[in-house]
Amino acid sequence: MRTVITGGAGFIGSHLCERFLGRGDEVICVDNLITGALENIEHLRKNDRFQFIRHDISHPLEIEGPVDNVLHFASLASPADYLRYPIQTLKVGALGTHNTLGLAKLKNARFLLASTSEVYGDPQVHPQREDYWGNVNCVGVRGCYDESKRFAEAITMAYLRTHGVNTGIVRIFNCYGSRMRLDDGRVLPNFMGQALRGEPLTVYGDGSQTRSFCYIDDLVEGIVRLLDTDFHEPVNLGNPSEVTILEFAKEILALSGSQSVIEYRPLPQDDPKVRQPDISRAHSLLGWQPQIDRHEGLKRTLAYFQERIGQGPRG
Ligand code: UDP
Repeated sequence: MRTVITGGAGFIGSHLCERFLGRGDEVICVDNLITGALENIEHLRKNDRFQFIRHDISHPLEIEGPVDNVLHFASLASPADYLRYPIQTLKVGALGTHNTLGLAKLKNARFLLASTSEVYGDPQVHPQREDYWGNVNCVGVRGCYDESKRFAEAITMAYLRTHGVNTGIVRIFNCYGSRMRLDDGRVLPNFMGQALRGEPLTVYGDGSQTRSFCYIDDLVEGIVRLLDTDFHEPVNLGNPSEVTILEFAKEILALSGSQSVIEYRPLPQDDPKVRQPDISRAHSLLGWQPQIDRHEGLKRTLAYFQERIGQGPRG
């Protein structure tokens, strides 16, 4: 198998590269390194089945030879990143999806789009099932991300219906684990970095908003299983175990043994109040459900950040 992964030097992408190399695929990793990092794939570069192409997939890309799978994972997934780079976010979601679909069509490859729980916006249906159409403010600050992914899903379905490309769509709910950037602005790296440095944990709003966090290994397993089907409709992948952000902050404080205090900051505009995946489709289609609970996943991730911050484990 020859597998192209855009965003392959990013958090999720680098885990996918590793996983596909591990099963014997040839992997072509495409990344412009706007938020990805070479150090995420450094350990893979000595493998002769691995190739890295530095390229912005918002521009067309030609690949020589056959391709069996195209996974479009290039994206600025953190709210802080997409607020900083809204146009690049729109382009990689829209033009990047168009270009990667074109590649899949040309090579007759299976195509998998990394979509997101953000297509549900600030949801009025809870938990979120794939047949819920969402509640998105297209002109709000998060619109650049949400609408680029909604467009990406629409063009993916158009390529399926018009050109018969074998497409799939995974809607990823908050995922975490090693190789997240400490400074990417998302809640988990923020809280872990703050706890480890003894700085206050910044809870936005009153912390009553909820999220459901899925450990990276579980997500990767779901993605691989979905890729290996011919299923075309969107599939939620995430961990249904839901927690308030305030509770989450307290869990990280307890786990790290940190003496940090909690500080409250204003809630960003359009911040979804609740989020929890309904994973019954993934369960019946793929026999998939998360295996790693939050306590275990957080423990592993904290160890990763501890090493990066250069401290020994506490307690
Ligand atoms: N959040 C927070 N403190 C932070 C960063 C984020 O309280 O330092 C909150 C944020 O307002 C949101 C939740 O944590 O309600 C998850 O935010 P994140 O940026 O990780 O991603 P999102 O799930 O909103 O895409």
